[in-house]
Order: sequence, then structure tokens, then C-alpha cells
Amino acid sequence: MSQVVTRIAPSPTGFMHIGTARTALFNWLYARGRDGKFYIRIEDTDRKRSTEEANKVIINGLNWLGLNYDGDIISQFERAPRHVEIAEALLKNKKAYKCYSSPEEIQNFKENAKKSGASTLFKSPWRNVDPSEHPDSPYVIRIKSPETGVTNIQDEVQGDIIIKNNQLDDMVLLRSDGSPVYMLAVVVDDHDMGVTHVIRGDDHLNNAARQNLIYHAMGWNIPVYAHIPLIHGEDGKKMSKRLGATSIEEYEREGYPASGVRNYLARLGWSHGDEEYFTDQQALEWFNLDNIGKSPARFNLKKLQFLSGQHIKNTDDAALINEVKNFLKYDKNGSISEDKVELLNASLYCLKDKVKTFSELIDKAAFIFVNIPIKMSHDASLNLDEDAIKMLRTLTLHLSNATWTRDDLEQICNRVSEISGVKFGKLASPIRAALSGQTKTPSVFDMMLVLGRDETIARLNSVQGF
Ligand code: GLU
Repeated sequence: MSQVVTRIAPSPTGFMHIGTARTALFNWLYARGRDGKFYIRIEDTDRKRSTEEANKVIINGLNWLGLNYDGDIISQFERAPRHVEIAEALLKNKKAYKCYSSPEEIQNFKENAKKSGASTLFKSPWRNVDPSEHPDSPYVIRIKSPETGVTNIQDEVQGDIIIKNNQLDDMVLLRSDGSPVYMLAVVVDDHDMGVTHVIRGDDHLNNAARQNLIYHAMGWNIPVYAHIPLIHGEDGKKMSKRLGATSIEEYEREGYPASGVRNYLARLGWSHGDEEYFTDQQALEWFNLDNIGKSPARFNLKKLQFLSGQHIKNTDDAALINEVKNFLKYDKNGSISEDKVELLNASLYCLKDKVKTFSELIDKAAFIFVNIPIKMSHDASLNLDEDAIKMLRTLTLHLSNATWTRDDLEQICNRVSEISGVKFGKLASPIRAALSGQTKTPSVFDMMLVLGRDETIARLNSVQGF
């Protein structure tokens, strides 16, 4: 079989819908898993919406998701002359015709048809008129769609769909101002780009029938279609803003790792047995069209969070620190100094477990970002009563000679709790408060190891009033 070529063809809307992101991912997985090509075509014929900014949002979204594309980004608008060329070719081959009916005539036709209960599909009186009889007035170019028989859409997800040709009108290809219609542009672009597989939302299924008319008229190969059901919200209704973030950028801002979002989106409407967590490598190996579900997938935030947590945990520290650094622009801490980055890097091992987002990871790393005198949360300050301060004083004395290994620190803390006649937990809470000002942190040993002797002792001293 020839090389697989897929594409994502977003219309610039000002944000990147999660459904578009998933469609892009499916196309990317399908192509990349088969040594194929994956292209981006921006459907920017609506000039009002197609701003530089709106295009950037899409590209940023794809980049963030890690969906690399081949070649240059294609602008549908810029290809208009080619779309016109094909409409002219169809005209020349008598597969299309000039229609001089005015919008009012068409409106009248439809109203009369409605009144008499006949089909409202417009039948142009110009379909079979000889060009020698054409007037010198504005016209549109319409395709001559077959009047009998059926148009068959073979869809890898939806199965075979048969549409009677007498239900398809002679759609307009070129408007009276000479501009091509969207349906023509899509077919010409897909053909010229060599697209072999059109994987897109099932809201475009009806378009496929009309698009096939153009393929047939041009004698072009029809691509393999896979129309995927849309994503529904947790309540089973169409995903709306109210029910959850619909823009991919929001997930980036909230600190979800791209790998987790990729994993989750791949599972949204496609499955590989019972596998929930998988790597990109596995997804590339497993992804196929056969296992795309026929009914709408339901968005499930808990599952996204679970998978994101798993991906954070399994990302190696070198890659993770880069992702966290990138995320910092969205975090309240903003960018951080190099020495804090180093500390963060050194503590990833004790931060990346049990967090669902980078935002949670940064919260867990609060002990790194604070400086003496450390601001205490109310709950943390409750752990610093007189007895606690006394224990910390003893601990500080012992720590000055410690070798600063985990074993050593554990032994010292156990000794101090013994001397103080308390369980280790009773000692851990004031240490936690002194080192971080918080009550939820990594283990006190991890904090001490990351902070080092001088900073640990300075923080412990600082709450003792030194
Ligand atoms: N521009 C269409 C959209 O954003 C996609 C068209 C297609 O994939 O053929 O939904």
C-alpha cells in the first residue's frame, strides 16, 4: 500500500477545542505509526476569523501536544486559484454548469415546492441549457450530480452509508463572485496533498457524500474515511465550556503534562483492550481505526488526572524539569532563580509521586520557594508550641555533627524523639513546619536532604528565635 498521508484541517476559531486536539492526535498516531506523513492545513477561508493570532493558537496547541507535522503549514485561502481551476475543469468536462438563477428565483422555487409538498432541493433550469444560450449576467458554477443511483460512503468507523443521489442537489462550486466554496476546497486540497485517510469528527459525515461527488466527477481516488463520534461532557451532553475546559490551552495552563493529555485523548473514543495507561510508543504501535468506538466518548476528568499523575511519575527527571520550567510561566511563582531550579531538580524524586499536575508538584515543592523568615500557615504554626521548640533545639544540636545521609538523619530523629519521650510523628510535625511553613510536604528527611545542612539548620534555628 502507498504511504499513509493524514492531515488535521482546523478552522481558526481563536482557541483549540479539545475535539480538534483529539482529531489531530488520531491523525498523527495513524500516520506516525505507519511511517506516514501528517500535515496541517488551516481552513482559513473565513477571512474575518482567520487572524494571525487565531492561527498561532492552533499551532501552539499542536506544538504543546507534541504533534510534529510535515512540510509547511498549508493555507486553504491561498490555494483559492487552484480551487477555481478545478471548478473550471469540471465545467469544461461538462461535469458542472453555469447557473444563472437569482437568489430570489431559488427562494421562490423552494417556497412553492414546500407549499405543494414537493422536494425543496433546487433543480436549476440551467443544467442542460446550451452555453450559446447563456445570458451575460452573474452566474454560479454548480456540479451536475447524478439524478439516479446512490452515493456510497465507506467509513471505517460508521460502516457503509448509502445516500440516494436524488437527495443531493447540484451544489454550488463557485459563487457568483468567483470564490470557491468550502466543500470544493476541502476535496481539492486533500487530493493535492495526497491525503489517503480522512479522520475527522462525524459532524462532517454528511459532507462526505457531497465531497464524493466531486471526487467522482474528477475521477480522483476517494480517501479512506473515519468519522469519529464527538466528545461529550461527563453528563452525556455535547461538551460545553460550562462542563469543563474545552480548550486545550486550559489544560496546559492548569499544569497537565502533554504526555498525560495525549494518553487520555487517545483513550477518548479509542481503546486497546483494557489498557488505560500507555506510552507514546505503545500508542503508536497500537493505534488503528478498527478500535474507534461508534458512540460518543464521555469526558472524564478523574481519568485524565489519574493518567497525568502516572505520566508525571514515570517521566525521567531530566525531561520533567524542563516541562516544569516551561509550566512556571503559568504558576504564581513565575520564573524562578537558577539555584531554586537546581533545588527543584534535586527534589523531583520526592515530588513527582502522587501529584496530578505540575501545579500540584510546585505546591508540594513550596519548601524550596520559601526564604527565612518563613511565613507559617495557620495549621503549621499550631505545631510549633513550646515543647516542640524544645525538641527542635535538641535536634539542631544533634544535626550539627550529622553526616547528612538518610540513614544518619533517620537515626538522629529517632534518638531525639526517644529523648523527648514522643513518637516520631510528634517530632516530624514541627520539623515540617520549620522547614516549609506548611503541613503537607515531602517527608522531612527528603526536605533535609534537598535543603542541605546549612539551610536546614538555619530554618530550624529561625523558628527557635535565633
Ligand atoms: N475545518 C473543519 C473543522 O475544523 C475540518 C474539515 C475536515 O477535516 O475535512 O471542523
